Amino acid sequence: METVFIGFGSNVDDRIDFCDRAVTLLSLLPHSRLNGISLLYETEPVRDQTDPGDGWFLNGVVQLETDIMPRSLLTTLQEIERSLGRDDDNRSGPRTIDLDILFYGEHVIKEPGLTIPHPRLHQRRFVLMPMNELDPLWVHPTFKQSVTQLLTEAKDQSQVRLLFPQPSARYGSRPARSSSPGS
Ligand code: ADP
Ligand code: MG
Repeated sequence: METVFIGFGSNVDDRIDFCDRAVTLLSLLPHSRLNGISLLYETEPVRDQTDPGDGWFLNGVVQLETDIMPRSLLTTLQEIERSLGRDDDNRSGPRTIDLDILFYGEHVIKEPGLTIPHPRLHQRRFVLMPMNELDPLWVHPTFKQSVTQLLTEAKDQSQVRLLFPQPSARYGSRPARSSSPGS
C-alpha cells in the first residue's frame, strides 16, 4: 500500500455536491482505503496555465492508502471526472470537478501526461493549505521540504479561506472510521 494524496476542486454549479460525489467515489475504490479528508476551502481562481473562469473554487485534499498503480489511478480519476460531467473539450475552462494526484508515496514520476509530485502543487496555496491540515510534516520528495515549509515559502498570494459553514452532511457514504459495523 502507498500513501497517496489527491487534490479535488470544483468551481461550477453545486460545488459542494461535486466535491461530495468525487470523495464518495474515491472512498469506494477497490484496493484502497480513504484515510483522511480535509475541510473544504474556498479559493480564488488562479490563472497560472489555465483559465478556469471567474467562479471561486471549493478545494480539498484526500489521503488514500492504495495498491492502485499511478497510471491506473490517473485513468480512474479521469473516469470520475468524466462521470461527474467534466467537459473534455474545454479541459482548462470552468470545471465541475478536477482531480489531481499530488503525491504518490515518495515516488517521483515524469512521464508524458503524468508528473508526480504534481508539478504545480508547491505554488498553490489551495493545495498546500488542505495538505497542511492532513499531514504538515509530509516531505516533498524532490524539494525535500515539508508541506508546512512549502506553504511558508509559497509566493501565491491568492485568497484561500475555510468554507464557512462547512456542510454538515458531507460524504454520506464515507466509511465511519471510529466504529465497526454492528457496533
Ligand atoms: P490542472 O489540474 O493543472 O488544472 P488538468 O486537470 O486539465 O489541469 O490536467 C491536465 C493534464 O495533466 C491531464 O490530462 C493529465 O494527463 C496531466 N497530469 C499530469 N500529471 C498529473 C497528476 N499528477 N495528476 C493529474 N493529472 C496530471
Ligand atoms: Mg487536473
